[in-house]
Amino acid sequence: MIRQEDKEKILDKFVCQKTGNCCRTSGYVYATEKEIDGMATLLEITNEKFKELYVRRENGWNVIASERHRTECFLNKKNECQVYAERPGHCRSYPNWPEIWEDETSLIKETCLCPALKKAYFEFKSDKTEKTIKKSV
Ligand code: SF4
Repeated sequence: MIRQEDKEKILDKFVCQKTGNCCRTSGYVYATEKEIDGMATLLEITNEKFKELYVRRENGWNVIASERHRTECFLNKKNECQVYAERPGHCRSYPNWPEIWEDETSLIKETCLCPALKKAYFEFKSDKTEKTIKKSV
């Protein structure tokens, strides 16, 4: 498990580079009814139409994961999310997802997907090394 203190330091350094890589993974994006309403409004379609096109029910959850839709999700050719202002909380909280912070291996694996997380992680490591060197001299 990554220490909470270390995780917070890495997350503080995280600045999204908008590569869209996290959006292109094959996993689910969970969405609440309110979030679905917001995204449907942005796309100027009804809640029902949004669900028909983009939502599947998985274990009682609404997930954006229809076969037609993932894995580009709502990204356009410029990597911009077309529902960004109303994107689900699941997207907003990236990369603060428990599975990423399970241990160093899972974190490093995620840094291979996300260059912004990689940058934050290596800056954190570099700060730590610098502190250790200063302490030892
Ligand atoms: S809803 Fe938008 S931010 Fe979330 S995964 Fe899809 S494209 Fe990415």
